[in-house]
Amino acid sequence: MSSKKIILNSNRHFEIIDITSQINREIDIDSGIVNIFSKHSTSAIVVNENESGLLADLELMLEDLISDKYSWQHDRIDNNAKSHLKSFLLSSSETLPISGGKLDLGTWQSVFFIELDGPRKNRTVNLKFISD
Ligand code: ZN
Repeated sequence: MSSKKIILNSNRHFEIIDITSQINREIDIDSGIVNIFSKHSTSAIVVNENESGLLADLELMLEDLISDKYSWQHDRIDNNAKSHLKSFLLSSSETLPISGGKLDLGTWQSVFFIELDGPRKNRTVNLKFISD
């Protein structure tokens, strides 16, 4: 078992960052699994297709699901309830297979870090590798 981390800086309030190649660079086992875990409650880790229209659709869907018409209670604390609620709908981690020293993804799959409350510096994504 080994661990690494990826540090990200986001530039926008909502931003989808493809971290597939960064993860592939950190892989130090031939075969096994990697757990990819975001250390933040206003972000997400997801697997999907890196197609610009689809990524815009995801942003629109999340905005539509988490309405501005409510007075969210967490906004009393630090005014980012919608960012947390979007994170609840997604996931803070993915566990994925590694084969041949690379992520064993489908042709149209990428791994994304989703910033839901940016811009932020030093967003940390932990990688935990378990070899076969
Ligand atoms: Zn908060």
